[in-house]
Amino acid sequence: MSNDTMSSLIQKQKHFYKSGITRPLAYRLEQLKKLRDALTANEKRIIEALNNDLNKSEFEAFSTEIGIVYEELAFTLKHLRRWMAPKRVRTALTHIGSRGRIIPEPYGTALIIAPWNYPFQLAVSPLIGALAAGNTALLKPSELTPATSALLADMLGGIYGEEYVAVVQGGPDVSQELLAQPVDYIFFTGSVNVGKIVMQAAAEGLIPLTLELGGKSPCIVHEDAELKLAARRIAFGKFTNAGQTCIAPDYVLAHRSIKNKLIPHLREAIRELYGPDPLFNPSYGRIVSEKHFKRLVSFLGNGSIAAGGRTDPDRLRIEPTLLDQATWDMPVMQEEIFGPILPILEYDDIQETVDMINARPKPLALYLFTRDAGTEKAVVGSVSYGGGCVNDTLMHIATPYLPFGGVGESGMGAYHGKGSFDTFTHYKSVLKQTTRFDIAFRYPSSKNGLKLL
Ligand code: NAD
Repeated sequence: MSNDTMSSLIQKQKHFYKSGITRPLAYRLEQLKKLRDALTANEKRIIEALNNDLNKSEFEAFSTEIGIVYEELAFTLKHLRRWMAPKRVRTALTHIGSRGRIIPEPYGTALIIAPWNYPFQLAVSPLIGALAAGNTALLKPSELTPATSALLADMLGGIYGEEYVAVVQGGPDVSQELLAQPVDYIFFTGSVNVGKIVMQAAAEGLIPLTLELGGKSPCIVHEDAELKLAARRIAFGKFTNAGQTCIAPDYVLAHRSIKNKLIPHLREAIRELYGPDPLFNPSYGRIVSEKHFKRLVSFLGNGSIAAGGRTDPDRLRIEPTLLDQATWDMPVMQEEIFGPILPILEYDDIQETVDMINARPKPLALYLFTRDAGTEKAVVGSVSYGGGCVNDTLMHIATPYLPFGGVGESGMGAYHGKGSFDTFTHYKSVLKQTTRFDIAFRYPSSKNGLKLL
């Protein structure tokens, strides 16, 4: 897209926004319902596109992408009227006679940049928030999932004019061109490095933004954990989408006394989920590109392989793999893994895990398996991370009642449910003053108090 075309697209959206058409509740509800109907009509095509791009099974496509979007839509449609209503607030005694209101208003034109790993959900969920809040939206899906990106362009282009919602396809170049435009909000999901580029671009125009980034999310298995259940939930969280999940447990910190018991349970859980030969299980995901495949394969020499380890370069598959005896100095522990390789490290005392995690960038997610309230308090109360679960993995992302986002290097801001509406909304504070009287002592020259007008 040439620079002129891009800037005329932005101007069109700004003009449309300024007309006020996106403001009323009825308009927003109608547009969200159109989206819901388009999802229903295109469900099969979405599943096919996700299968083409990442070999997602129908079950996975539904449970981790389409289902979450339906849930967001239903929740938003149900609550939007209440979220949109201005709130009256009390005023201080010094402001006697006046009334305070907080009025939610859209930012204007929102730019949403999405990654490839959940290419449907991570594009459409923020879009729901942007539209619910009354914005127009530009959506830049990932170039690494061309089938889903083309489908998004076609599906959204079929229900919305580009002055309201426009899908702009392309890679980093297109993304940077978009970032140079005078949009009113930026919502970025992707890697930490690109997050920094996005934030710099936003700083140029002082554009408010949300950054949904990644990092290494720890999973602590304490000595009192129910190991079989923990193993199943960890394997589910790690190997869904072949480990290409921003909140996948990146590594396990296992208490020394149970580590050797946990590993056979993890092996068994992998077999339960993907059968004896996951490489040939049609429901097991593939690695998105050759570049990522090669990066992941280079980790297989780290530690000692306790399960899996085989690869299929032609079909970009890597078996669910456990790396025992991993240590912090290994390459696999230096960056977010983002693949089906799970290093396992040991600890003796729960405080060690707290210190280890706190010494590193704040994670996007943290998982803790324990039955002991004291241990839970020791970890949840003293480690800073975006969000997570106790005795489970991933599930905190799938409820609209919990805002989802990172902290520190794993991001800023949060969304889902009301959190999405809030993200794309500016809350304007307005004080309406009485004209019936004036308080004279607020003025420097006065000696009197209340003065009737
Ligand atoms: P990425 O940062 O490479 O790309 C994300 C988006 O940014 C894509 O649309 C891409 O085209 C664009 N982009 C790439 N390089 C750019 C540049 N130089 N300038 C401007 N735009 C650019 O991320 P990815 O590889 O698609 O996704 C994986 C990363 O995303 C992982 O780190 C993962 O943890 C993170 N992630 C986070 C969340 C979350 O919700 N917090 C969700 C999914 C993925």
